[in-house]
Amino acid sequence: MAAVRVRMSMSHMIHGPHPPEREIAPATSAVRPAIDRSEIPQAETCSGDRSLTGHTHPHIADDRAAIDTARVPIVSTSMALPSDNHVHSEWSWDAQSGSMERSCAQAIRIGLPSIAFTEHVDHTVWTASVEGLATVPADHPVALLADPTGQVTPPAFDSTGYFLAIEHCREKFPGMRILSGLELGEPHWHEDAVRNVLSRGKFDRVLGSLHCLPDRGRFQEPNDLITHRDPHEVMRTYLLEIAHLVTQSDSFGVLAHIDYPVRSWPAHLGPFDPAVFEDEFRHALRATSQAGKALEINTVVPLHDSIARWWHEEGGEAVSFGSDAHEPLAVARGFSNVAAMAEACGFRPDRDPLELWHRV
Ligand SMILES: [Zn+2]
Ligand SMILES: [Zn+2]
Repeated sequence: MAAVRVRMSMSHMIHGPHPPEREIAPATSAVRPAIDRSEIPQAETCSGDRSLTGHTHPHIADDRAAIDTARVPIVSTSMALPSDNHVHSEWSWDAQSGSMERSCAQAIRIGLPSIAFTEHVDHTVWTASVEGLATVPADHPVALLADPTGQVTPPAFDSTGYFLAIEHCREKFPGMRILSGLELGEPHWHEDAVRNVLSRGKFDRVLGSLHCLPDRGRFQEPNDLITHRDPHEVMRTYLLEIAHLVTQSDSFGVLAHIDYPVRSWPAHLGPFDPAVFEDEFRHALRATSQAGKALEINTVVPLHDSIARWWHEEGGEAVSFGSDAHEPLAVARGFSNVAAMAEACGFRPDRDPLELWHRV
């Protein structure tokens, strides 16, 4: 059955719940004060990215500074939660349940060092399958945006309203570091439009994403592509395009969800095994490292530890953690497990908790 990939949770609805987080060896010592993890949402919730879908010059500079190898990492490991650098609010076109205020309150409640609101900025007009659209509620953002042929034109980003909301939350929650940001869809295909958005203000965190691929004269998300193409071929094509994305665009500092098609991996093929695509992942990771970008550890489907290990082996300098939350309760989902995984793969928090984690 074709499915509407609504960068939020349609793959969850269609393919069933995401696999549980893998067992990870716990980190060994703590430098920062421990926090109560009982209230931290883990990976059982799964409303990630828009899959029917969803970064700056100032931020590029910020992100690149963040991966300065001269920085001294903390040698002893810390189990304090990392910052959530990938959260959507009501300012993302696909986040029906998003709330900047309530996400900030949740971040404070669970003890995050900071939260970044990385709203979708998409310029690729893409096509959702008519069959998939028939499975989603009429008030779903993609259903509302799609024309009768399934073609979806993402709405413009309201940067003015967004920055006013950021300022409001910074005043209301003075104890929380609130970062501005964007998630740029396919920025390498839309250089001028992306430059225009980035010129509208200071974005602290800018993510680069690939949500769709060319297909028969249009663009489609992986969940629709796999209905008429071999999922293995879709995965390989996606990773090749990732290498183009990171090489051709300097508009972002963090590569988001390198494993995005895994969210749509067909159940009948069994659990996704990254080892089948090791060469392709390493190629994409090497290009990302050479481009000076950080790799995101996204927790919609927690990044497989093999990929994080390959990132370290291919010279990756930094990792960024992102829940891809589209609702407040999903902020920092699964972070304790992936933080331990990142430590096991050779990455450590910086002395400044707002910074990305660096290699050791
Ligand atoms: Zn996202
Ligand atoms: Zn995304």
